[in-house]
Amino acid sequence: MRLILLGPPGSGKGTQGDLIEEKFGFPKISAGDLLRSAVKQGTPSGLKAKKSIDKGELVEDNIILEMIKKRIGKDDCRNGYTLDGFPRNVSQAELLEQVHSEQEETVIDIKVDDSTVVKRLSSRFICTECNNIYNIKKAGIKDEKKCARCGGKLVQREDDRPQVIKKRLAVYHNETEKLVHYYEKRGIYKAVNGEGRIDEVFQRICSLINKIYMQSQECEA
Ligand code: AMP
Repeated sequence: MRLILLGPPGSGKGTQGDLIEEKFGFPKISAGDLLRSAVKQGTPSGLKAKKSIDKGELVEDNIILEMIKKRIGKDDCRNGYTLDGFPRNVSQAELLEQVHSEQEETVIDIKVDDSTVVKRLSSRFICTECNNIYNIKKAGIKDEKKCARCGGKLVQREDDRPQVIKKRLAVYHNETEKLVHYYEKRGIYKAVNGEGRIDEVFQRICSLINKIYMQSQECEA
């Protein structure tokens, strides 16, 4: 199954993508992580991408597409994968359709209000080593900001500053939200309520995935 997670920044795509990977075994492919890793390595694409990321704008389609294609081509994606943060506009969705996929495609849109996004992102910290995500308020992390999983340093992302959050939300509403209609027309769009605790949202996503699995098995039978 090729699962596409839609939703604004801070809707929980990354966290839910990790949980989906743990439970169903589909590797999570995060467009943001791929880009940040290229920035960290200082590759030419990474340097170009950094300028857009810092401003909260979308990186050029061809830069992110090449990274996604390379990642999807790896062996562990043969039985399915989850895309987190790709596609983010209609032209990326059209390009993705050209990338050969034997898997059935499903889109899950994690719905949250803008006010929730602002609240979540302003207390979001990320591990510089393993990219694990923390809400430091909820996790009760105060002084020593270290990753519970690998001990790495936790930092706030540059683009989680209030001005950049505003811009990212605007980009989401102007560009990414058009994908709702795009995928509705293709009959593969499903929405879940993304408000509430991580485990509650995950339960909603699991019931959707299980339903889709059952339907596809009925079709095969
Ligand atoms: P994320 O970690 O998904 O919130 O992404 C962080 C930033 O990376 C975004 O604000 C964009 O600047 C860039 N980015 C992530 N995914 C894409 C994409 N599919 N297309 C273009 N830019 C992207």
